[in-house]
Amino acid sequence: MIDFTLTEEQRQLQDLARRFAEKEVKPRAAEYDRQPDPRDSFAAEASRKACALGFHAMLVPEEFGGMGLGMQNFCLVIEELAAADIGFAMNFGVSCAISKMIADHATPAQAERWLRPYVDTSGATHHLLAFGGTEPSGGTEIVCPEPNPEYGTRSTAKRVGDDYVINGAKNFITNASRAELYGCMVRTDKSKPNFESNSIFFLTPDTPGFSVGKLEDKMGHRLMSNGELIFDNVQVSKDDMLGAEGGGLPIFASVLGVNSLGAGALALGLSRAAYAMAEDYARQRVIWGRPITQYQSIGNMLVDMKMQIEATRLLVQRVAWAADHDVHDGAIHHSMVKVYASEMARKVTVDAMQVLGGSGYMKDYPAEKYVRDSMVIPIYDGTNQVLRQFMAMDMY
Ligand SMILES: Cc1cc2nc3c(=O)[nH]c(=O)nc-3n(C[C@H](O)[C@H](O)[C@H](O)COP(=O)(O)OP(=O)(O)OC[C@H]3O[C@@H](n4cnc5c(N)ncnc54)[C@H](O)[C@@H]3O)c2cc1C
Repeated sequence: MIDFTLTEEQRQLQDLARRFAEKEVKPRAAEYDRQPDPRDSFAAEASRKACALGFHAMLVPEEFGGMGLGMQNFCLVIEELAAADIGFAMNFGVSCAISKMIADHATPAQAERWLRPYVDTSGATHHLLAFGGTEPSGGTEIVCPEPNPEYGTRSTAKRVGDDYVINGAKNFITNASRAELYGCMVRTDKSKPNFESNSIFFLTPDTPGFSVGKLEDKMGHRLMSNGELIFDNVQVSKDDMLGAEGGGLPIFASVLGVNSLGAGALALGLSRAAYAMAEDYARQRVIWGRPITQYQSIGNMLVDMKMQIEATRLLVQRVAWAADHDVHDGAIHHSMVKVYASEMARKVTVDAMQVLGGSGYMKDYPAEKYVRDSMVIPIYDGTNQVLRQFMAMDMY
């Protein structure tokens, strides 16, 4: 039997996230969004409070002090945060995905070293993680499945005794200027094909030779910091490697699965907010003596928006449920969530702007922000073109 009812615990979690987002994030989202300098767009106080509630540690197991949530509950929280601001929500979604990568693949000593300080919210700051995969040569280049070793990740880690020396650069990285721990995927053997020669390392920002370069001035998601990570002869120990040497790409791919679900929940929250704004406006906007909801083309547009949001929620919940129950039935690929939800969000936010007419184009309403925020979802975490290609390779 299929039951879509949330448990009492889930309702409480959803309610906690909703109340937090509406009180701490939503009221100042537009103000942060409009800061011309990306360094001023980070909602530091709200981030600290979100960490105090444990939202950065949703996917860290309880044994390390995290919330130990499953993917369904993670998606519930991310949707609520994204309904207030998608950039803010993504800071936490990405950080949670990276913490899960560590929890799933770290040795007990590494988990102690990396996760304990991350979950500890006794200090007066936020806790976020960053992971550098994408490089200037291409976010798609680093996942190259071709056997020719010339293709793939360009950044390298060269073994020197028990240490490795990392050189290279990563770009567009989320939480670039705000993280306390940085992961990166680099090539440890350039004579082998890309898919068997990437390795993952974690390091703290004070590691000599590591620096954060240019911070991006983005169209949307402005409450999120994105920038360049520079590795200039960065010396790390073999104990800083996550998983086995050469085993980095499958670990990275497992994080993309979490990110796909996270992106689905982000798209849901954003679209839900855009729909609510459009519905509210349409009920109140009177033209020729009637609210515009009474005109078929507007009513139908609103119905379509609602329908697409509800269909996406079912897809998110279905795939999250499968992840929580370790079900690998192959019926639905997790990338479908990201592709479908992100394209839905672009459509719903543009339609929401249309419902508001000229007002939708002005900054008095959040409609234009929702459109800007929606544009990048089909691009990050693997472009939709590439995800479709990988799904086709996997399925046929
Ligand atoms: C807001 C934001 C946050 C991000 N956060 C992170 C992060 O935290 N960590 C991280 O590692 N990266 C991050 N990225 C990078 C993101 O994952 C990449 O931008 C994305 O993977 C695409 O890479 P690219 O921009 O280099 O485009 P390219 O890979 O150069 O692709 C260019 C175009 O060619 C198409 N294309 C390329 N190859 C193929 C192919 N084989 N088949 C079909 N089409 C193809 C693509 O779809 C795209 O349209 C972020 C990006 C953004 C915008």
